[in-house]
Amino acid sequence: APGARVLTLDDLPIRDELRGQSPYGAPQLDVPVLLNTNENPYPLPEALVARIAERVAEAARDLNRYPDRDAVELRTALAGYLTRTAGHAVGVSQVWAANGSNEIIQQLLQTFGGPGRRAIGFEPSYSMHALISRGTGTGWISGPRNEDFTIDVEAAVRAIGELRPEVVFVCSPNNPTATAVAPETVLALYEAAQAAGPSMVVVDEAYAEFSHRPSLLPLIEGRPHLVLTRTMSKAFGAAGLRLGYLAADPAVVDAVQLVRLPYHLSSVTQATALAALEYTDTLLGYVEQLKAERDRLVAELRAAGYEVTESDANFVQFGRFADSHAAWQAILDRGVLVRDNGVPGWLRVSAGTPAENTAFLAAARAVAGEHR
Ligand code: PMP
Repeated sequence: APGARVLTLDDLPIRDELRGQSPYGAPQLDVPVLLNTNENPYPLPEALVARIAERVAEAARDLNRYPDRDAVELRTALAGYLTRTAGHAVGVSQVWAANGSNEIIQQLLQTFGGPGRRAIGFEPSYSMHALISRGTGTGWISGPRNEDFTIDVEAAVRAIGELRPEVVFVCSPNNPTATAVAPETVLALYEAAQAAGPSMVVVDEAYAEFSHRPSLLPLIEGRPHLVLTRTMSKAFGAAGLRLGYLAADPAVVDAVQLVRLPYHLSSVTQATALAALEYTDTLLGYVEQLKAERDRLVAELRAAGYEVTESDANFVQFGRFADSHAAWQAILDRGVLVRDNGVPGWLRVSAGTPAENTAFLAAARAVAGEHR
């Protein structure tokens, strides 16, 4: 009716902890060079696109049926991929898949977190760890980092011992700082978490394929409370597919079944992911190009006078700026969208195609004298 007041979400009886919050999301702006969401800039090769069409057509003939609830063929292929590339043999019973690693993280928090329980992460880190904690009613503890963005192990161990969180998040390579975590650090946190709980330690390896260092996967051996999460969004260039997975003790795979929705992973998703896994070698070839471009970004930003954090990911943290938001805007004014993650003094740029990176570097050089 005319004059009727437009409702906002605040008028609804939403949960108290959601009041005043905003949804996760990077700005989606129409800009020539988009280097703000750590996507892979390379579209899937045409041969793979054709293979996806074939496998999806096959799946479509059975769409009147629910998908394989346990995604056994896909989990077997993912286990094979990890065994071949991550330095440790895992079987299908140790792997679980879901719609993006965000859903994996949600299932882990629904299983091991929840009301009356808490999770800790060492910030700045991937903000969804805190947001999914809140969404699942899990309390959030912001743990410390050193000046150079490595985890302050002593302080972290102390925090785990004193606060006894049920879930400990470790992101390696870490978003947004791009720093990898040493295996000794994970082991120290794991030991602290066992003494305090025993609590679960979740190692988020979304960017593992881009690292100079080996995967932390071998650490799951003999450590039933250690979970490793991965995604096809980055290295496989398939962010639109929504396919994430975990590797852990088979008991953890059994545990997350208690909270997963029945048939959560559509047969179209399973078919597409299986097709992409057939092209692993081709896609990992693009990863090698991106690693070389990432190294070029680090070297050329340093040559332009920037401070750059050591990067093991497909993105680079650079600064420092007196006003990082003004620097973000100045780079945007030159047609390049990077990310201001709210880390004071620093911005993050994703490695794009060589041409995109060259455009970014020109913009970064142009503003190098300003905002510092
Ligand atoms: N973990 C980290 C560290 C990430 O940066 C991201 C994506 N930005 C994710 C998990 C989630 O990725 P997805 O849900 O696409 O697998």
